This record gives sequence, structure tokens and C-alpha cells, in this order.
Amino acid sequence: MESCGGVDEELFSRQMLAAMRFAPRANLVNAASLVVLNLYVAVPTQVVFAVVWLAFAVPAAGVGTLISWVGKRSVARRGEIQLSRWYYRLAVLEVSIQGVLNAILVGYLLPRVDPGRQVVLAATFAGILGAGAVALSMVRSIGALWVVVPVVGVVPTFLLMDQRSYDVLSAQLVLYGAVLVVGVVYLADSFRRRSLAEIRARQSLEVVELLLDDFEDGSRDWLWETDSEGLLTHVSERLAEVSGLSVHQLRRLTLVDLLRTIADPSVDGRRSVDALTDALARGQGIREHVLHVRVRGGPRWWSISGTPRTDPGGAVVGWRGVGADITQAHNHAMDMLRLAQTDPLTGLANRRRFQERFEAVLAADPGAGEVHLAIFDLDNFKSVNDTLGHSVGDELLAQVAARLGARAEGAFIARLGGDEFAVVAQPVPSPDFPELVFAPYQEVFDEPFSVRGNRLTVTASVGCARARPGSAGAEELVGRADLALYAAKAAGAGRMSSFSPSMSLRAHHRATLVADLELAIEREEFLFHYQPQHELVTGRVVATEALLRWQHPTRGLLPPVEFLDVAEESGLLVPIGAIMLRQGCRRLAGLDGCVRLAFNVSQVELHGHGFLDQLEAAMHEFGVDPGRLELEVTETAAATPHSEAILREVRELGVRVALDDFGVGYSSLARLQRLPVDLLKVDRVFAAALGSAAPRARDVALAIMKSAVDIASALGIEALAEGIEDSAQLAQVRRLGFDLAQGFFVATPAPDVTRRLRLVEPPVGTD
Ligand code: C2E
Ligand code: CA
Ligand code: CA
Repeated sequence: MESCGGVDEELFSRQMLAAMRFAPRANLVNAASLVVLNLYVAVPTQVVFAVVWLAFAVPAAGVGTLISWVGKRSVARRGEIQLSRWYYRLAVLEVSIQGVLNAILVGYLLPRVDPGRQVVLAATFAGILGAGAVALSMVRSIGALWVVVPVVGVVPTFLLMDQRSYDVLSAQLVLYGAVLVVGVVYLADSFRRRSLAEIRARQSLEVVELLLDDFEDGSRDWLWETDSEGLLTHVSERLAEVSGLSVHQLRRLTLVDLLRTIADPSVDGRRSVDALTDALARGQGIREHVLHVRVRGGPRWWSISGTPRTDPGGAVVGWRGVGADITQAHNHAMDMLRLAQTDPLTGLANRRRFQERFEAVLAADPGAGEVHLAIFDLDNFKSVNDTLGHSVGDELLAQVAARLGARAEGAFIARLGGDEFAVVAQPVPSPDFPELVFAPYQEVFDEPFSVRGNRLTVTASVGCARARPGSAGAEELVGRADLALYAAKAAGAGRMSSFSPSMSLRAHHRATLVADLELAIEREEFLFHYQPQHELVTGRVVATEALLRWQHPTRGLLPPVEFLDVAEESGLLVPIGAIMLRQGCRRLAGLDGCVRLAFNVSQVELHGHGFLDQLEAAMHEFGVDPGRLELEVTETAAATPHSEAILREVRELGVRVALDDFGVGYSSLARLQRLPVDLLKVDRVFAAALGSAAPRARDVALAIMKSAVDIASALGIEALAEGIEDSAQLAQVRRLGFDLAQGFFVATPAPDVTRRLRLVEPPVGTD
């Protein structure tokens, strides 16, 4: 018998219980057959022996029955197969006593009864040995004891007799006993092995169940199992918890019933259950099928996976799988998606989301009416950013978004990027004019914005486009609104413009122009015309302004007005400017004397990457004295802090700075004082107005020009009058005290810089 340990204990108990199951009945039959045997064999001649023997044997059988009965009861009461070792010890004692009694019975009676009774006695003895060995074979030692004790007890008494037949009987008994013991060992062993297999199987089942319980405890996941009818067969507490139904309710449902009961009532919710039902019906595996359900009124998301269980013939006999509540992960993914579709600054939809939604609107029922789109673009937003800082710019955008959002009744508003907003109005049944549809949105700019203590008057240019759903794509309509916006911008700030087909034509021209400009850079089609500037006191040419021209292969010589805007917007002006700066410096290097060369520089060039480096490199390359270079910048271009800083560095290089078109931009006197400038170029509109027929215009022009001269002298810098077209104007600006003059009367722009300069004319315009 094996020693302790969980498996060993249980194995022992199982063996004992199996033996005990037979024992009471076997004991009873045994006792009965022994009583009958005694009556027939012993009573006629050995009545005293029979009485004494039975007086021991019957109680012994009774005690054996009692032990078995108590053992079985104790196991039944405790519900687990555990039996005290005492039962084994009692059983050994009991079997040994019975063995001894049997040995006494046979050893005493056999030599004392007649041959007929001897046969009955021997046969019964053999039968009792055999039957008992089989009945007790589950416990090897007890089964063996049952055989060995009587045989060992009887054989010596037989051997003491000097009858040959007893010798043979002894030998037979020993042989028979040995065979029985071998049989017991064999049966006990096979019973042991079967029991062990059962114990192991039960233990692994327990482990699996333990693991499954653990699995369901530790996560939001659960296991499900259905039979061939689809009814849920494995219903866990976890499933009850996550589904909001009781285990009892669940047991009466099929998986599909369950899902239909709790599916979200939306179309999507029902569709997802239908798709799952289809998959089940087709007997295909399901992988992470996502379902939108409602549990206790709240929306939840489930993921269901499973595989069909099949019988050996391949027929589906049920399903088994896992379910998971993925609400958290799903919500997280949705948040991420929302975030990816939202503009973080304003909280409006971003460009991506706008495109998706706008496409959906345009794909809708054409009967709903026309879809109207407007693109709002803030005017001069860049200068807000440049002068007041990005944080003010950002807050302004947020406020604009909030005001637009407050007007949106059913409209969809998005930030397309930068200072551009899109408004998609609800389809309008009657063909309405965009101006009417979007007027309320334009009104949000009527009131100034208050951002961090700054009162900002902001206007927006608006481009509108409209289409019937199905007649145009989102991209197309945005393109049209963009063209309209472009036209609105060109017309001035705060304008609204609707798309018309001619805009497409213009856009087409513009696109051709950009392509041509790119080619022109490659083919070096740009050149300068030079226009001299005269010193009024001496009449000498002291400087010449380089004016850009484009020798177009088919359109001839083009002035800047034909291409400058497009070159600036397309970003091509920066490389053009860099090329021309080198060209100008080369020309300047070839010039004698101390004549200066003035370049026009726009804000994009000034702010362009490495502008100062390029300027320095060009001067260095051609050995140009910085004092002979002048950069002309308009007031507006010079107005930002960034420009101011660059201009300061320009001057530190020794290069002069001229403020171009002075008087038409907006510089405050305070700013002017700070600006690093050497020359004020008073715009030609004032010179032109000097000869005006309207006296008031004349007076105003005169006053402005006078004050420009005063400002220049107060700042210790020079003043130049632009656009002098006749002798009268020249006389007047001379009288006003201008230092320099420039204009067609003095000299028209011409390609040959040297010719003009050699022709040093006598002082012009003496009164
Ligand atoms: P701006 O700087 O005011 O240049 C003077 C413009 O006035 C030139 O026109 C010149 O031809 C014109 N002009 C000169 N004298 C008179 C006159 O007596 N009467 C009239 N009515 N006009 C006169 P242009 O060459 O067509 O240049 C136009 C503008 O293009 C320039 O105005 C300047 O702002 C810009 N520009 C020219 N060249 C360049 C360049 O190389 N780079 C940049 N960024 N801008 C340039
Ligand atoms: Ca100029
Ligand atoms: Ca000018």
C-alpha cells in the first residue's frame, strides 16, 4: 500500500471503498454458506465445534459488515473520497481473523468427517477462497491476506497427517493459493491503474475549470458555449454580469437571442447581430466580431470570437468561444479618431473630417436642394501674428471659431488650416444666393475682437460656391470656393465673392503663368531696366533703381504688374530675387564712380530663408561696396518686428534702406522713428496730384509732401519725390526741399545702365 500524498490518499480510499462495496453482501453470503456448511458437515458429528466456531465466525462477519458500512457512510457524509487508515487496519484484522477461523474450520473438520462431507468441505473452502479473493481484489494486500492466511494455517496441519492424499491436497492448495494471489495482484493492479487515470482526469478537469474561472475573474472576458440548437450551455456569472441578465434567464436563451435582446436599437447595432447570425448559420469561425449593445441602458461594445464544435462526421453540434467587453478600448479608439479629426486650437472639425463630411453631404439626396459652401479667410491675419505674437493670433482664431460656431444653425463648420474656415450650409430648397446664406456668418466680424487687452478689428474675405448634391465632388466645390475667395481677396479686404466660370479661366491663366515663370527662371528671361535718381541741387545722377522686366518668349517684354503677384504667391519671387540680386551686383561692379544701385525687395524676399547671407555673398562675389547698395522696402513690408530686425542687420552691413511708396501705406510716426531707414521715397500719387485740376487735391498733396520733407529732415535722412512727369512738378518738389527726384521727366527706365549714367545731364528744371 502506497504512502501519503494527495493522489496516493485518494487512490487508497478508492481501493478501500471499492472493496467495501462488495464486502457486506459477500460477508452475508459467506456467513450463510458457512452456517449451511456447518449444519451439513459439522453438526451430525461435531456439534460442539460447530456451535463454538459459529459463535466466533458470525460476529466476525457482522463486524466486517459494520466496518464497511461505517466507512461508506463517512465518505458519503463528507462528500470527498478520503478514508482513514484505521479502516485498512481494521480490515486487515478482520480478514486475518476470518482467515484463521476458516483455517481452523477446514483443518479441524476435514480429517474428522466422512469422505462425502470432505468433498463438500474442500469444495466450499476453495469456493470461499476464490470468491473472497475476487471480492477483495481491489486492495492487493487484503485480497492476498484472504487467501494466504487460511492456506498457511491449513497446510501445516495437513502435512502433519501421514496420509498421502493430504500431501497432494497441500500441494494443490499452495498452488491454488499462489494462482489466486497472482490473480489478486493482477486485478488490484488494473483497478489501481484505472482509478489513477480517473483521478488524473478529474484533477486536470479541475485545473482547467480553475483556469477558466480565473480567466473570467481576471478580465472582462467570458466563455460561451452553445449546443446544436444554439442554446447557451455554459453560462458563467461573468456573462450574467456583463449582459445584465440573470444566469437563469441566460440558460433559456440562444446566443443569437441574447444578442438580439441587448443589441443597440440603431441600424448599425442590428446589422452587426445579423452579420454574426449569418456567420453562425454558415458554420464559419468568428473572429473578434464587434457588436454594439446596450446593458442597463448604457452603450457597450462587445467582441465575440468562436469556433464550431463538430462531431466526427463533421456536422456542427454547437459552438464554443470567448466574448469580451471592449467598451474601453473602443471608446479610446473613438477618442483617438475624434482627436485626429478635430482641430485642437478651435475644437472645430479639421480639414480631414471636413472632407469626409462634405463628401457625405454632396452624396446625399439631390432633392434636398443646393449645398452651399463658403470659405472664410481672415484678412491680414499674418500681421496680427507678426506684430502681436502667435498666442494672440491663436486666441483670435479660437474666438472667430466660437463666433462662427454660435451662428451655425444646422451648418457644419471646419477649420481648413491657418486662418481659413469652411461653412457648409444645410441644403437650401429654393435656389438662394450665397450672399444671403452666408451673410449671418460675415456679420460676426462686425464687432471687434478683444484678445489679451488688444482690440482687433478683423475682416474676412469670403469665397462661395454651390452645387446640387451629386453634380460635383467635394474637391471640385472647394476648388471653386477657393477661386471665388481669391477674387474676393483681389477686390480688397472684407469682400464676399461667388464662384463664376470666368474665375476658372483666370485660374487657368494663373496656372499657365506659374508654369511659364518656372521656365523663365531656367531660361534666364529676367532682366532689369534702370531708372536714375537725380540729386536736385546738383542735377547729378546719384543712384539708379533696378526695375524688373520679363522678356516673355511670346508676350514680349512684361512689366512687374503682369507677373509679380503670381510670382510672390507661388513662392517663385524668392529665387527670382536672388538671381536678380547677383545680376544687379555684377552690373554695379562694372560701373565707375560712386553711383548707387537700388533694389526693390518685397516682404517675402526679406523674410525668405537666408536673405542676408545671399546679400552678403552677392556683394562679396562681385566686390561691391555695401554703401553703393540700397534696398527699397514698402512701408507695409517694413512694418513687422521681423522685417525691422532684418533691416537693422542690412544697415549693419553698410547697405542703405529706402522706404518705398511713402504716404500710401500706414506707418505711425512712432514706428517711423524706430525704423532703420536712410531715404523716404514719397509715392508718385502725390506728385501726380500736384498738377490736379481739383484745388483741394492739390493742397492735400502739397501738405503731405511738405510734411514728408519735414519728417525726413527731422530724422536726418533724405527725401525723394517719385513720378516726376513734367517740369512743373520738378520745380515744385525742388521748392519743397526734396533732395532727390525720379520720374519719366527725369529719365525713363531703360535696359542700359551705363548709357544713362554717362549722359550726365545739366541741372534740369530751373524755374
Ligand atoms: P516702384 O518701386 O514704385 O517702382 C517705380 C515704378 O514707377 C516703376 O514701374 C516705374 O516704371 C514707374 N515709374 C517711374 N517713373 C514714373 C513716372 O514718371 N510716372 C509713372 N506713372 N510711373 C513711373 P514698374 O517698373 O512697372 O514697377 C512697378 C513696381 O514693381 C515697382 O514699383 C516695384 O514695387 C515693383 N518692382 C519692380 N522691380 C522689382 C523687383 O526687382 N523686385 C520687386 N520685389 N519688386 C519690383
Ligand atoms: Ca521702388
Ligand atoms: Ca515707389
